[in-house]
Amino acid sequence: MIDEATATVGGGKASSDGHGPTDKSPREQNRDDAPQRAEMSDYEIAQHWFTVAADELGVPDDMRAVLGSSYREVQVQIPVTLDGGRIHVFSGYRVQHNGARGPYKGGLRFHPDVDLDEVRALASLMTWKTAIVNIPYGGAKGGVNCDPRELDRGAVEKIARSFMDKIEKVIGPTRDIPAPDVGTNAQTMAWLMDEYGKLHGHTPAIVTGKPIALSGSYGREAATGRGVVYMLEEAAEQAGIDLDGARVVVQGFGNVGSWAARLACELGCKLVAVADADGAIRNDSGLDPNRLCEHVSEGGSVPDYEGGERMPPDELLATECEILIPAALGGMIHEHNAGRVNCRLLVEGANSPTTPKADAILSDKGVFVVPDVMANAGGVTVSYFEWVQNLQHFRWNEQGVNAQLRQIMRTAYRTVAERAEKDDVSMRIAAFCVGIERVLEAARMRGYLTDERVPSSG
Ligand code: NAD
Repeated sequence: MIDEATATVGGGKASSDGHGPTDKSPREQNRDDAPQRAEMSDYEIAQHWFTVAADELGVPDDMRAVLGSSYREVQVQIPVTLDGGRIHVFSGYRVQHNGARGPYKGGLRFHPDVDLDEVRALASLMTWKTAIVNIPYGGAKGGVNCDPRELDRGAVEKIARSFMDKIEKVIGPTRDIPAPDVGTNAQTMAWLMDEYGKLHGHTPAIVTGKPIALSGSYGREAATGRGVVYMLEEAAEQAGIDLDGARVVVQGFGNVGSWAARLACELGCKLVAVADADGAIRNDSGLDPNRLCEHVSEGGSVPDYEGGERMPPDELLATECEILIPAALGGMIHEHNAGRVNCRLLVEGANSPTTPKADAILSDKGVFVVPDVMANAGGVTVSYFEWVQNLQHFRWNEQGVNAQLRQIMRTAYRTVAERAEKDDVSMRIAAFCVGIERVLEAARMRGYLTDERVPSSG
C-alpha cells in the first residue's frame, strides 16, 4: 500500500526527489519548463512536414484528420520505489499512430523530457518511415519520463517491467512491437520480453533490439548508424563528395552517433568533432571513433576523452566539415544556429533534429539534407529482420542482415531522390510524399478509406 505521506504526487509539478514531474502531458502545461532547444516542439515539426507534403499531394482535409492524429494513445502510471523507500510516479506513454500497413512498430524512449506530444510526433514519423523503406509495419512510439542516467539499474528494470505490465494489453507480436530508442538498449528489451513472457508465454517477437543471447539479430545494434552511412554513401555520390578524407562532425555519441562515426571512418572519412550531452571535443587531425567508443562504454563522457580538445558545445555545428550527422535529440538545429552550420551534406540520424525554419536556412546555404524519415530507418529495418527471424525461429548471419539492409536503404534513397527530382521538391518533402501515398493506398485497399479522392501511388 502506498503511504500518502511519502508518495510523490502532483500532476505536472516538479517533485522533490529530483526525478521531475509525474505527469507531463499535455505539453502546453509544461512549455515554460522545457529546455529551449528550438522555436517549436518535435510534434509541431512532424506536423509541419506532414502538412507540407499533404498539400503537395492534395490530400483532402478529412483524410488529413485521419492521418494527422493517432489511432490510440495510452498513458500509464509507473509508481516505483526508489532508494530510501520513497515512491516516485513516472508517466509512461504508448502511441499507435497508424496501422494500415501492418502491426505498429516503434522505439521506447527513457528520457526526462518525454511527454505525450513528443511520443505522438515520433509515432507519426514511424508511420512514414516504415512506408518509405517499404517494410510491412505501421507507426508507434513509447516513452517514460525518467532519466536512466540518474537511476540505478534496479530502478530502470522496475520501470521497464512496470511499463510492460501496463501496456501489454495493447501490444503483441502481431499488434505492436517496441524497440530501443534514446535511453533504452538491448538490456531494456530483455526485461520487456521477460515480463511479457510471464503473462503470455515465451514470445521473442514482442520486442526487437534484444541481446543476441535472447533471440536478438546480428547487426541490430549497429543498424541505425549503418543505415545512416548507407544513405550517406548514396547522397555523397549524388552531391559529388569524395568520402576519402571527408570531414565528419557527429552530434550525440550514443547508439546511432557512435556507429555512424565508426562506419563512416571505415569508408575513409575523418571524424573531426563530436558532442554528447556533457560537452564537445574536436581534433582537426581526426578522432579515433573506436577509442572514443571504448572510453564512453567504460563510463566516460565525450568531453573527458583525452584524444580531443574541448570546445564549447555551441561551436560544434559551426565546425567546418563536409558531413554533419545530428544523432542526439529533436530540435537541435533551429533558426538561431542553422546559419552557422558549415557542412555540405547533413544526414539526420536523430528524429526531427532540424526545425522547418532551420531547414529553409540550410536550403538557402546550399546544404544537401537527407531527412530523418529515411536516413535513420536502418534501425527499424533490421528490427523487421529480427522480428522475421523470431517468427521463423531461424537466425540469419550478419553478412546477410547487412546486405539486405543495404538493399532496402539504397532502394528507398533512389526512390525518394527520383521523386524529388521529378516533382522539384526537397528530399524531405519527396520522402513524406512517398510515405503518405503508400499509407493511403494501404488504407484504401483495406477499405478504411473508400474515397476516390485518395491519391494513388500506382
Ligand atoms: P542514445 O541514448 O544511445 O544516445 C543519445 C546521445 O545523444 C548520447 O550520446 C547523449 O549524450 C547525446 N545527447 C543528448 N543530449 C545532447 C545534447 N544536448 N547535445 C549533444 N548530444 C546530446 O540514443 P540513440 O538510440 O543513439 O538515439 C539518438 C537519436 O536517434 C534519437 O533522436 C532517436 O530517436 C534516433 N533514432 C534512434 C534509433 C535507434 O535504433 N536507437 C533509430 C532511429 C532513430
